[in-house]
Order: sequence, then C-alpha cells, then structure tokens
Amino acid sequence: MKEYYTLNNDVKIPSIGFGTWQTPDGETAINSIKIAMNYGYRHIDGAAIYGNEKGVGTGIKVCGIDRKELFVTSKVWNSERGYETALKAFEKSLKDLQLDYLDLYLIHWPATANKFTNWQQINSDTWRAMEQLYNNGKIRAIGVSNFLEHHLDPLLENAEIMPSVNQIEFHPGYKQNDCVNFCRDNNIQVEGWSPLGRGKVLGNATLKEIANRYNKSVAQLCIRWAMQNNVLPLPKSITPNRIKENFEVFDFNISESDMELINEMDEFGGSGLHPDHIEF
Ligand code: NDP
Repeated sequence: MKEYYTLNNDVKIPSIGFGTWQTPDGETAINSIKIAMNYGYRHIDGAAIYGNEKGVGTGIKVCGIDRKELFVTSKVWNSERGYETALKAFEKSLKDLQLDYLDLYLIHWPATANKFTNWQQINSDTWRAMEQLYNNGKIRAIGVSNFLEHHLDPLLENAEIMPSVNQIEFHPGYKQNDCVNFCRDNNIQVEGWSPLGRGKVLGNATLKEIANRYNKSVAQLCIRWAMQNNVLPLPKSITPNRIKENFEVFDFNISESDMELINEMDEFGGSGLHPDHIEF
C-alpha cells in the first residue's frame, strides 16, 4: 500500500488524513495534532466551519515536523460561496492556521437546485476563486466535497482547472459507488469522510468477524478497506491510543474475497447528509 497518492496535477498526498471535525479548539486541537504527527500522520483535514483552525494551526506550528512535510486541507463554508467571499474566506483560514499556503482547498458543499435557481453559477464563481488562488501559488491543489455527478458535470464544463479531489462520505455502510466511479473516470481522487461512520459501524458483527481474521480492530479494517478501494480515508480521533491505532494499517492486506464481502454489504450507519437535501 502506497504512503502517498499522486493527484492529477502531480502533487503527492499522504494516503491517510487526520480528521478534525468536532475536535475542540485550543489545547485539545493542539495536542491531538501533535500526537498524530508524532505517530506518523502527515496529512490534516480541516475546515473553517469546524471552528478550530487556530488550535490546529498552533498544533502544526509546534508539532516539530517541517511544514513542507505536511499536507494541510481546509474548506470554504456554504455561507462564503461566490468569488469575492471565497477569496476572503481563504485568507481567514490561512490567517487562523498561521500558514502562508495550503496544500488543498475544497468547496465544502455544492450549491444545489434545491436552494438556488442559479446554483451552477454559484459553484462556478466559487471555483473561479479557487482557480485564482491556485494560479497565484496560494494552494497546491483544489477540489470539492460532497459533489455528486450531477453537481460535478456543470462545474467541469466551465472549469479551467480540473478538481483534484472530491471528499465524500465513505465507509462500509455507505459507499456511493456511482460517485466514486465517476471520479475515478475523471481522474479525481476520492477522499472518504467519516471512514468509521462516526463510530456507528464499529459494532457491526460481520466487520468484527472479518477484522478478527487479521488481528485488527474494525476501525483499522475500515481504514484499510477504504485505501484498498483507492479512497483516501480521513479518520478523526482525539484519543491518543485510537489516533495510533488508526494509523497502524500499513502492515496487513485485506484479501480479495473479504474486500468483496465488505463491498457488498447493505447500507447502514450513514449520516443521512445528502447534498441535495441538507438544511445548512
Ligand atoms: P469518523 O468516522 O472518523 O469517526 C470519528 C469518531 O469515532 C469519533 O467519535 C472518535 O472518537 C471515534 N473513533 C475514532 N477512532 C476510533 C477507534 N479506533 N475506535 C473506536 N472509536 C474511534 O468520523 P468523522 O465524522 O469525524 O469523519 C472524519 C473526518 O472527515 C472529520 O473529522 C472531518 O475532517 C471529515 N469530514 C468531512 C465532512 C465533509 O462534509 N467534507 C463531513 C464529515 C467529516 P474520539 O475522537 O473521541 O476518539
């Protein structure tokens, strides 16, 4: 299993990202980043809306790893869509993170027909800001999150730069095969959010049985399973032994038949957050 994937613009991205949603700002954010980097993570997944970019940024500063070795992601929130607003949102994230460039910047959720008549225009305007930041050397790669095929199609039609990444919900109970295949066909790297189903898939009996075959936890199985599907997992934890556990996934290989068993599991443990129906 590779420690890095290569994005469509040749930028290398570490194959596991450290999630930070619901990590409290301040000491907890600082310490969890320090602990994760100490255990070998080099990739941090954040967002302005998580309200902890100051703590995450301080963690990055004090963790002892050279900035160039780290891969830092942030996302433009839904209230900041559009050209000027996205540019401003980027500057705020950069300042809070105490950085002078980001490795990856994503549109957090698409504007959709459910809420806006001009949703395609809004997404294209936000994307134009991302392209400008990329062209100015402020971001090494740009992408989207929670975009399904019908959101990506019009964006790709007008884009000058192809998105490098689409970050979507992905775990054994929620696989979004159509979207994953669309991204694969278009050379867009899929990242999987909630790879542990926010803890909700960890008690599943079938997953437990499979994990036992490898002497691994269900969390490790879920993370490895995502990677073997070429989806980049973003497990989150603020608990030191879990942070460590979630990175110990490079020393086993899930067999083809077990991959198939998981790939064919019915839906369960999904967040219910569908981009066309969210209220935020
Ligand atoms: P995860 O699937 O990563 O699960 C996190 C939960 O599982 C936490 O409660 C954590 O507890 C617990 N946990 C972590 N490791 C273990 C373990 N080894 N054993 C048992 N329990 C464990 O959920 P998230 O929703 O946080 O998703 C991960 C990341 O994806 C986010 O942090 C964020 O960066 C990104 N994300 C992006 C979204 C988007 O719209 N783009 C939406 C949602 C998430 P504890 O921390 O207490 O240890």
